[in-house]
Amino acid sequence: MKVQEVLDSLAIRFPNEPEYLQAVEEVLSSIEDVYNQHPEFDRVNLIERLCIPDRIYSFRVNWVDDRGKVRTNMGYRIQHNNAIGPYKGGIRFHSSVNPSILKFLAFEQTFKNSLTTLPMGGGKGGSDFSPKGKSNEEIMRFCQAFVLELWRHIGPQRDVPAGDIGVGGREVNYMYGMYKKLAQENTGTFTGKSLEGGGSLIRPEATGYGNVYFLLKMLETRNVDIKGKVVAVSGSGNVAQYTVEKLIQLGAKVITMSDSNGYIYDPDGIDREKLDYIMELKNVWRGRIKEYAEKYNVKYVEGKRPWAEKCDIALPSATQNEINGKDAQMLVDNGCFAVSEGANMPSTPEAIAIFQSNGLLYAPGKAANAGGVSVSGLEMTQNSIKLGWSKEEVDTKLKQIMSDIHSQCVKYGKEESGYVNYVKGANIAGFMKVAKAMMDQGVI
Ligand code: NDP
Repeated sequence: MKVQEVLDSLAIRFPNEPEYLQAVEEVLSSIEDVYNQHPEFDRVNLIERLCIPDRIYSFRVNWVDDRGKVRTNMGYRIQHNNAIGPYKGGIRFHSSVNPSILKFLAFEQTFKNSLTTLPMGGGKGGSDFSPKGKSNEEIMRFCQAFVLELWRHIGPQRDVPAGDIGVGGREVNYMYGMYKKLAQENTGTFTGKSLEGGGSLIRPEATGYGNVYFLLKMLETRNVDIKGKVVAVSGSGNVAQYTVEKLIQLGAKVITMSDSNGYIYDPDGIDREKLDYIMELKNVWRGRIKEYAEKYNVKYVEGKRPWAEKCDIALPSATQNEINGKDAQMLVDNGCFAVSEGANMPSTPEAIAIFQSNGLLYAPGKAANAGGVSVSGLEMTQNSIKLGWSKEEVDTKLKQIMSDIHSQCVKYGKEESGYVNYVKGANIAGFMKVAKAMMDQGVI
């Protein structure tokens, strides 16, 4: 395989999909050497079969708003690869959703799920529907209309969706309710459900907690203690909230959070009480992060991301491409020594190169944020054995999975200098398992 040839051919076939091409390039450049040590892979054109999704469903979603007006949105489900288990990956509701973004997410998800050691293939879905400013009833009607199309393509052994940006417990429950009614079954085909409806303890916390557990493993390699470290977090949704919760428990000082309008900078650190306020602000009132600055009389920076603030550790937890090369250089210049990604692909290729060439501990999302889908996998297991595990049991399993992912990254990513290239480690480990399964299963 020659990476450039594969990329050129994909760029000709999918010219309007920059995020997808970006994700493919990152993975292919890390696995090129390993791939080429296996001529049997090339004989069955494994690389194209792995880069191009198994199938893509796209459909129109009709729903009625509170004024009685009929609205339409696009809905999608990308079933990327199911070599190691049923398709698994979240649903995103955001005005920016398009096939390129969902294809990048489904591609990444395939390797992430492989890394978790659980039997899950990769998928992703969503809609360009924006939940912002919609009433609860409108959200319910939209979720139901979305599933009216999606339900025929999913199932417990086939494809198991979950949440992502704009889709939390409320939306998952509405979608699962409609799915159950149409499929006439109760097999837990969505994860991230409420506890009473078959969800798992620790699922809401899992991505944020998991990212911090992964960070701790990285810090351990340099004998650094998290206590007292200054941390910049972006986002204020599900992942960011539980990242901050775990950091507070461990004695770190979180100085920033953000939303798509801007960020707040709190020099005293966000404590438990302030985090409770943010959770209520975001999850109940559905307000803006700016209101935190007004309440606690701290700085609010409109239209910017928090990377210019001095910190030891940065945990991007909002969205893709939220740290560019300039941001990365500012972080490095200000003494930041570790970056662990709660979001998917938040760092651009230029930013990653700057982190790595400056020797930072840098963990890509597919390793560091795999805690969410891992606990989703545990939710699937609990649903199929019809049992619920305790908080401690799930948290212990989550910690173990994050530690195992870290070990795999070190195994495949440690360079001669001793520096661990977590991008390379995660990509090779994730790829090899999927590749072996695909080889075993023949050309299908
Ligand atoms: P939420 O919708 O709960 O929160 C998203 C946060 O990011 C909000 O604060 C939102 O602000 C902000 N945000 C969204 N889009 C943008 C943008 N274009 N620019 C700036 N800020 C933005 O989503 P999650 O917390 O679930 O997801 C965050 C990230 O983590 C995503 O990349 C997701 O793919 C990834 N992830 C999530 C997992 C999960 O379990 N939920 C699992 C693994 C990864 P606003 O409110 O203004 O929109």
